Amino acid sequence: MRGLEDELLDLDASDLRRRIRWVGSEQGREVLLDGDSVLNFASNDYLGLANHPDVIGAMQDALGVWGVGSGSSRLITGSMRPHGDLEDYIAELKGCEAALSMSTGYATAVSTLGGLLGKGDTVILDKLVHASLIDGARLSGATVRVFPHNGLAKLERLLEASTGSAGRVLVVTESVFSMDGDVALLDEIVSLKNRFGALLLVDEAHGMGVFGGRGLGLIEELGMGGDGGVDIHMGTLGKSAGVAGGYVAGARVLMDLIMNKGRAFIYSTAPPPAQAVAARRALEIITSDEGVKLRERLWGNIRSFSEMVSDVKVIEPVSAIIPWMVGGEGGAVELSDRLLAEGIFVPAIRYPTVSRGSARLRITMTAAHGEDDLVRLAEVLRGACGKTTL
Ligand SMILES: *Cc1c(COP(=O)(O)O)cnc(C)c1O
Repeated sequence: MRGLEDELLDLDASDLRRRIRWVGSEQGREVLLDGDSVLNFASNDYLGLANHPDVIGAMQDALGVWGVGSGSSRLITGSMRPHGDLEDYIAELKGCEAALSMSTGYATAVSTLGGLLGKGDTVILDKLVHASLIDGARLSGATVRVFPHNGLAKLERLLEASTGSAGRVLVVTESVFSMDGDVALLDEIVSLKNRFGALLLVDEAHGMGVFGGRGLGLIEELGMGGDGGVDIHMGTLGKSAGVAGGYVAGARVLMDLIMNKGRAFIYSTAPPPAQAVAARRALEIITSDEGVKLRERLWGNIRSFSEMVSDVKVIEPVSAIIPWMVGGEGGAVELSDRLLAEGIFVPAIRYPTVSRGSARLRITMTAAHGEDDLVRLAEVLRGACGKTTL
């Protein structure tokens, strides 16, 4: 039997061993990381809502009314009203008939794909979709097909090959890709899936809060909301919404099927009702005038930073995620460590999160950062570039 310790040593040897870094403070532009105060460019809390007073207040009030726990799975003990209120609100925002919410985006991905697909169906994934969607696809029992990132020609061939089969065909992509920060070619993908009569799921985990007049995501930004071609809208409430949870929205028949067959929905205790109340409050902020201002700050920061480092790296900012490509796993870890020594937290992203040899720093901008923070990050990165062979 292969030794457990040996396996960890193998990870060490290939610079792939991970360890937990402890955060001893609330989320924000600065966090206490393993005891040191550091500038935080690691978070997906793009609008700084994780400790917004109104969101905190909403959760505190909800705890007084609803208590802490939800008792059981929603189909067993009855579903506490805040979950339904959150879902009605999401459906209304997204222009869909219905929505479902769950404990996490991960659980939502697994329940959605598992609820809608089974043996005999086909799921077609962009190669770079998030692990939760890959796991959902595998667990569903459907035939899994993959097209290169935004590779429309291969997608077309896969759709063509699956026509005529009795099963469902579902195309899965993300609006903003979580480790590359680039976006899906949604217009073209919608045309293709319509031509072949397939369904389309788009995960807006990193689009919500960042794109769209009301911050609903890239689908809104592109004017493709409501019946605009996306059948299944998915996302998380733990990133720009700053809380926790996942949602899926679409036609009622789809939601009913997920509710009946999605195992992570059925066989898991519902999240605390206060979580749903806080997430709803966060969505109200995202879609309000305050949300518009936060997005302006966020995009201002994204553009300023890109300009500051333009002498060492050409960055064409597409989203709040800025990948700083390094290549080797060791080099990425070393650069991340060097930044940390200067009091700046930017995680190194390695295999298996990204492919081998495409390790990178993943810089995330937020509305909470100030000009001085960006200057510090840019200066240290420029200095590190001079000293490391990038
Ligand atoms: C983070 C993420 C998820 C999972 O959401 P959680 O709420 O963190 O479980 C799903 N899809 C994508 C694209 C993500 O980036």
